[in-house]
Amino acid sequence: MVVWLIVMWLVLLTPAALAGELEVGFGEVDITPELRDDQPVWLAGYYPGRRATAVHDPLFARCVVLRAEGMKLAWVSVDLIGLQYPAVQQIRRRLADFAYVLVASTHNHEGPDVIGIWGETFLHRGVDDAYVDCVIERVVEVVRRAERGLRPARAEYGVAADESLLADLRQPIVKDGVLRVLRFCDPESGQVSGLVVQWNCHPEALGAENTQLTADFPAATVAALSGPHGIPVVYFSGALGGLLAPPDDRITDDEGRPLMTGSFAFAQRYGEAVAQLAREALARAAPIELTPFRVAATRCGVPIANDLYRWARLLGVLRREAYAWNAAERTLGAPLRAVQPGVTSAIETEVACLRLGELLVAALPGEVYPELVYGHPANLPPEVDYPDAPLEPTVTALVPGRKWLLFGLANDEIGYFVPRRQWDVRPPYAYHAAAPQYGEINSCGPETAAVILDALSDCVARVTGAGNEP
Ligand SMILES: [Zn+2]
Repeated sequence: MVVWLIVMWLVLLTPAALAGELEVGFGEVDITPELRDDQPVWLAGYYPGRRATAVHDPLFARCVVLRAEGMKLAWVSVDLIGLQYPAVQQIRRRLADFAYVLVASTHNHEGPDVIGIWGETFLHRGVDDAYVDCVIERVVEVVRRAERGLRPARAEYGVAADESLLADLRQPIVKDGVLRVLRFCDPESGQVSGLVVQWNCHPEALGAENTQLTADFPAATVAALSGPHGIPVVYFSGALGGLLAPPDDRITDDEGRPLMTGSFAFAQRYGEAVAQLAREALARAAPIELTPFRVAATRCGVPIANDLYRWARLLGVLRREAYAWNAAERTLGAPLRAVQPGVTSAIETEVACLRLGELLVAALPGEVYPELVYGHPANLPPEVDYPDAPLEPTVTALVPGRKWLLFGLANDEIGYFVPRRQWDVRPPYAYHAAAPQYGEINSCGPETAAVILDALSDCVARVTGAGNEP
């Protein structure tokens, strides 16, 4: 009798209504800006004044929506240099029925300026606000489309590593050569419903001379993995700070001749090599339980010690709201309408940790140095500015033994998170350098990494805390 009742109960419930059952849906939408004679599109990255001359391949917003127990998550990836937090907040206001909407940028250096500092000159803002409004519109649209396509799914998680696919342009040499992948399949047919890929490299395969709009190498990675059946693929950039870029000595053409960065042939081949690494990760992928969902997100202030950012804001090139910074409590004060002597300004951003069953997802609003993922190198040169600074928590120490993903440039792009012990803007410089290494110039300041990693530490504790274990 009891058995019969249980069978009846199972039959009466639709599959999606079973507790904890996972559903996924995918979508993509074109976000390529229109090229017009009377309205220049300024390409983001490298230096100002790069006007787009043509479209080589379209830019996309790609999305996966996940649902379990009535709770919905959306993860969106956009082929942009770094969509800003205020734009992401606008997207979320229109998707208020979602438990969490994450919008991450691939950090594409061959798409339109959506931050401001790459206009006609250093003095001109490069953003077309109407374009950003259009991106907001289309992201909302693609999330709804993915939601309409929700179907039951089971998931697998895999990793594969190849550090030779990365150059590190800053000392010390620390790379994140681990590619992480989620594969979703229909539980009945086994058919693949879509992939989520996380790799850790600046989309800079085309280099600074290119003037054609392109999604750079991730376009080739997505196309190769998508294949003839058009499997949806959502590509995310992980810890690409510090500074991870495509290598010049690794990629060859059909005849085995080396290809160098700065050409579409290189971008294509490099993207395919990343796809091949993803296939290795998929070959090793094992089932993973992705329910239930838990979300911890923290809005946090980041003080601005970077004079270039302050000047850019004064000039109207950066239009981000600024607040007075309360250093003792690490909190934001009143909005700052103008520069006030003696008052440190700060911006608001967000750090999050999502827990999906056995998986943790760290969402960090900028460019993470791999040292902040895997651990701080010992014996840094004594010439750095803060040789005895406290060490920030690291991602792997926060998520021991777990399966995880890291989405960089998530919900914001506030620049590099430089470990404070590597901060080096005052002479003499470490590594016998004649000038500061690249990094600090595109960072809010030496406190950023601590603020962000401490916030992540809080979020991880909230989703994994006592009583929450599976
Ligand atoms: Zn960068």
